[in-house]
Amino acid sequence: MPRYRGRFAPTPSGPLHFGSLVAALASFLDARHVGGEWLLRIEDIDPPRCPPGAADTILKQLEAFGLHWDGPIHWQHERDGAYQAALDAIIAQDLAYLCSCSRRQWRAHAIYPGWCRDGIREPHKPTAWRLRSDRGLRPVIWEDRLFGHQHFDPALLGDVVLKRKDGLWAYQLAVVVDDADQGISDVVRGFDLLDNTPWQRQLQHALGLPEPRYLHLPLILGPDGQKLSKQNHAPPLPESEHAARPLLHAALVALDQAPPDALATTPVDEQLEWALSHWSVTRIHPRALRHDAPHRD
Ligand code: GLU
Repeated sequence: MPRYRGRFAPTPSGPLHFGSLVAALASFLDARHVGGEWLLRIEDIDPPRCPPGAADTILKQLEAFGLHWDGPIHWQHERDGAYQAALDAIIAQDLAYLCSCSRRQWRAHAIYPGWCRDGIREPHKPTAWRLRSDRGLRPVIWEDRLFGHQHFDPALLGDVVLKRKDGLWAYQLAVVVDDADQGISDVVRGFDLLDNTPWQRQLQHALGLPEPRYLHLPLILGPDGQKLSKQNHAPPLPESEHAARPLLHAALVALDQAPPDALATTPVDEQLEWALSHWSVTRIHPRALRHDAPHRD
């Protein structure tokens, strides 16, 4: 059994919110509970979406909650060469093609219909690289540690974008290359990414990379029933340890770990110590959605 190595991989498009805390906390506890490592990767491949200072705020927030990571921070903006090498390897197998189509053109279809597979439709336009899903890619099957057996037909997944028309790397390619290069054994993240996992497994297969285990977590909804997100203006997590205490407790409640009420005001290190000795994935109810976000004024 390879050594456990987990990671938290926020996109610094804004500060962390309660939903991100739940994902960070679960992956931290899952790693540390078995004496594993927990790495931090800042997914800043899309500079226009990442305001200056957002990554620093994230680091301060993680520190306030006592979520200390191992080793140097891994920054995606430094990884151009690794992503290019992966794309080249896929192109060399004739598993990628250039595509000029815009989403507007194929919006009547559930997935991109592969119009550019046999030649770029509009060669004068900017092009993206896509993975071919019509070249013997196998059905994607895995056991999610919480949501159980998963089975996806490649024909229904479509040809995922690897490099965008604007020249930026696609999340799917970057995450797969980085999970492999960082030696990640276990991915623990929100349910909203479960339907991205089949593309990531396809890419791991195409690149001959090891497949980590996956645990997707119930998503936290805000009081309005919407997924907590930066777009929905979810309140940012605090940057002070004192203010972090009740939120850390609420995150343990959201993960069904049943922390004692008295723990809600104790320092974060004490809460984490309790949580580490009690961590149990089987306690988490495999619901896609939860209404547990604490109300904050
Ligand atoms: N960067 C992604 C996000 O912030 C998470 C990626 C992942 O965990 O695979 O939503």
